[in-house]
Amino acid sequence: MSNHWSVHCVDCNDDHGNPRNHAEDGMVALIAHREVWELVGERAPDVSELSYDGRVLSGYRVIPFWFLKHRGHVLAPQSEYGYLLDDCTKQFTCGECNTVHTCRRKKDHTGGHSRIRGYTPGPRL
Ligand SMILES: [Zn+2]
Ligand SMILES: [Zn+2]
Ligand SMILES: [Zn+2]
Repeated sequence: MSNHWSVHCVDCNDDHGNPRNHAEDGMVALIAHREVWELVGERAPDVSELSYDGRVLSGYRVIPFWFLKHRGHVLAPQSEYGYLLDDCTKQFTCGECNTVHTCRRKKDHTGGHSRIRGYTPGPRL
């Protein structure tokens, strides 16, 4: 099954684009080097794309301006199916609408699954 990944800004709900198949590790590497891309975006605004060759990703086109725009924001690899790399992603049947959802809470969370990211269950009454 194909699964394309890209870098996603959680704060702005904005995608870097240039998705790559099974490249979640590559996206982690791109995020790890975000300060480099930000610096290029800042110092060399005429550079629209950089070609990145790394250990887990090669021939990848980085858009420095995108990283500069999202400086200080929460970035995470996102799959084409709309979940983040550290999401739980378990399928569960919802008690409210009785359909199957994909859990968007963080991996290894406690308590029940939820399709809402950042959900924390309230006190049990
Ligand atoms: Zn952002
Ligand atoms: Zn539901
Ligand atoms: Zn879950």
